[in-house]
Amino acid sequence: MPSEDQLREEIAATARLLGEKGLNRAAAGNVSARFGERVLITPSGVPHDELTAADIVRMDMDGGHEGPLPPSSEWRMHRDIYAAKREAGAVIHTHSDHATALACLGEPLPAFHYMVAVAGGAAVECAPYATFGSEDLSRHMLRALGDRKAALLAHHGLICHGRDLKEALGIAEEIEGLARVYLLARAAGQPTILSDDEMARVAAKFATYGRRRDDG
Ligand code: 13P
Ligand code: ZN
Repeated sequence: MPSEDQLREEIAATARLLGEKGLNRAAAGNVSARFGERVLITPSGVPHDELTAADIVRMDMDGGHEGPLPPSSEWRMHRDIYAAKREAGAVIHTHSDHATALACLGEPLPAFHYMVAVAGGAAVECAPYATFGSEDLSRHMLRALGDRKAALLAHHGLICHGRDLKEALGIAEEIEGLARVYLLARAAGQPTILSDDEMARVAAKFATYGRRRDDG
């Protein structure tokens, strides 16, 4: 398990990278990692290009924290994912353009492309709107997430989780790219949707695809 200092560095670096990659602007979005019985999370309202490891907030599962900076206003969504999903080691929330555009239509990302299975299902569902930072938003989000690794948030953005920050970042990037291609395809015509059977076949292939030696 990485040390607290290592995780703090990795969270700050991931938050800065989301900005550099154009997946978040200023203080939009947030990043966290599970740290034992606690959560390390980006602070609320701090532009991510300014973030350092020292700014990352150590938070209890009830939102309690020490230090001058408050945790992200979305700490409930992060906490609720860790509480509901033992396999989740990191959570990323973005306002990335194309995922957010689709979420602003209140639509899911369907299986128009096989890579949608990267989020662990045949679609990425869209949670109904609720005010940012609210318990309602987190409740809606968990329902839309189901047993998948990503969900859209209506009139807001995207949230996803992975076993570590690297996996969560990969999913955030992939879903944003797929949302972009989906909107392009929709602008040119009406894409057909792959069947649940085909998406189950893809999911089975993903179980062994691209495994690295150190995956065990
Ligand atoms: P925080 O700066 O509080 O993390 O909020 C950003 C955000 O994306 C709210 O939904
Ligand atoms: Zn947000």
